[in-house]
Amino acid sequence: MIRKPGFLGFSSGGKGLAVLLALVLAGAAVVGGTAWWTRSQTLEELRSEAANSLTVYSVGLEEVMDKYRAVTVMLSNRDDVRAILTQAGQEVTPALRRRAVAFADRQAFLAAADELRIIRSDGEIVGTGGPVNREHVSSGNVAHRGYFIDAMQGRLGRSIVLRDNLPGGERRSYIFGAPVRDGTRIVGVLALEVGLSAVESAWVLSPDPVTALDDSGRVLLSNRQALVAELLAAPAPLPGLPVEDPAVPRVTQEVKLVRYGLPGLSGRDWLQVDMPMPVLGWTLRILTDSAIAGRQAVQAAAIALLLSLLAGGGLLLILNRRAELVSRVRRERASSLRLERRVRDRTRALQDSNLQLAREVKEREAAEAELRQTQSELIQTAKLAVIGQMSAALSHEFNQPLGAIRSYAENAGKFLDMDKPEEARENMRLVAQVVERMATLSRHLKSFARRPGGSRSPVKLGPILDEVVMLLSPRMKKEGVELRILGSDEVDYVVLGDRVHLSQVLVNIVANAIDAMAAAEQKVIRLSCALSTDGAAVVISIDDSGPGIGQEILENIFDPFFTTKEVGEGLGIGLSIAYNIIRDLGGRLEVENLPKGGARFTLTLPLAERDRERNAAE
Ligand code: ADP
Repeated sequence: MIRKPGFLGFSSGGKGLAVLLALVLAGAAVVGGTAWWTRSQTLEELRSEAANSLTVYSVGLEEVMDKYRAVTVMLSNRDDVRAILTQAGQEVTPALRRRAVAFADRQAFLAAADELRIIRSDGEIVGTGGPVNREHVSSGNVAHRGYFIDAMQGRLGRSIVLRDNLPGGERRSYIFGAPVRDGTRIVGVLALEVGLSAVESAWVLSPDPVTALDDSGRVLLSNRQALVAELLAAPAPLPGLPVEDPAVPRVTQEVKLVRYGLPGLSGRDWLQVDMPMPVLGWTLRILTDSAIAGRQAVQAAAIALLLSLLAGGGLLLILNRRAELVSRVRRERASSLRLERRVRDRTRALQDSNLQLAREVKEREAAEAELRQTQSELIQTAKLAVIGQMSAALSHEFNQPLGAIRSYAENAGKFLDMDKPEEARENMRLVAQVVERMATLSRHLKSFARRPGGSRSPVKLGPILDEVVMLLSPRMKKEGVELRILGSDEVDYVVLGDRVHLSQVLVNIVANAIDAMAAAEQKVIRLSCALSTDGAAVVISIDDSGPGIGQEILENIFDPFFTTKEVGEGLGIGLSIAYNIIRDLGGRLEVENLPKGGARFTLTLPLAERDRERNAAE
């Protein structure tokens, strides 16, 4: 069965979906992570920039303040100030007041301060002066003011003042108050008022809102006028920041993400960086619009999404290809396994049938061996049967010469008695001649009865015919049969065969012919030899003048044990054996009736090579 690969080449869709889900989750993680990281990085950059600006602003502010603080302390230590105040402690005369004003005017001008005040220990202003107060000299009592109280206690007093009673609008000023001592006694206070607009104007360049706040979170200074005097008290920080920079201790700077409801600040998330200024007791604060971090994050996320999609798509493609490859390899392996199994089965079947065949061949060989054994037994039996048939004629053949020998011997004896040695010798020669003939016949008989060698070899036809004639001539003589041999005188054919077997076959056929002609008037057997039309074989035909062979006999004549003869006269195996012998020699034995009566047996035997060449040459 060939399975079609499912999604991503997985056979079950579940696995493919799981892979897809994992990819989507990984992509989402990458996009989210990139956005978060970019936002953090941008916020960190903003924070770092803001912190740098804050440092610069704080240094500027502190420099200004330090300068005025130092000037205040320095002026408070002057002898003329001490003299004015010591004198004022008794009585403030108009002359003293003028002196004080002149001093204040001059020193405020030199220090570039807004106003300078010389104040008696009870808070009474002795003299005041400066560019701001040129036309509007302050007077009165300042005993309740913070800077005065602090200074009178021996510390450097500080206050922030908001003035709205000045031409040109609202002003914020900072007032330092330093104690003026006469020995250990504090005789009064020297106060220096400094306008902060110069500091604010330095912040105008900043695009972000910069503010300086007091402890209560009220805006003292800012580059945004709308924020001045507003309360920027710590709003709850938004989630999602905190940018931790281990290099910057939190004591120095505090970073928050905040949202204000104030006009000018609302609608945005601000990155708020605070820097405490402990000497002044202020906090310097810068607000940076954090929207850019969000925009950067969105852009980075978009790029990450695009890259993730590309990577995911590529990965899916690769996974799909790989899965397809795996399933193809699996299919091919399965089919090759099937093929192997089939080959194995076939091989086993073949081996089985080979074994079966080998067994059968062995059985057949055994059967053939048995058959051959039986056949050779039968051949021997048939031969002995022929010899049996011939025995009467043979005994006659032997008796006759024996009688002749006896009479020749008796004659020889008589001629010797008559002293006729010539005649006696003639008779003895005749005896020897007859004995020689008997010896020849007995030799043929012996060779006929012998078991054949069984091999096929070139053998001459002439001597075989001689033997047949020699063996059967006693019977033929007795029965009055005439044998005519045609065609073998001119050529002595050499055929492939076995001498003993061939003579047995011919003896059998001729003997059958003699039997068949027992009742015939004319008893003639014609044996003729000729080359076959193709020149490859010798054709021997044996015709008789007997009654011929009936149709039903003709059909069974070569079957073993088929005979028409009386019991004891024939076994019915002669022709069957002859047929088999000729077939084994590579020839043919056929039978037919002659048109003019009688039967014809035709023997076709293969010519030996040498003889065939010779025939061809002739
Ligand atoms: P057997 O001679 O012992 O009967 P054979 O196989 O030699 O066995 O012969 C089988 C039969 O074929 C004979 O019985 C005879 O009837 C028939 N036969 C053989 N040769 C001739 C012949 N020349 N003319 C007529 N019949 C023949």
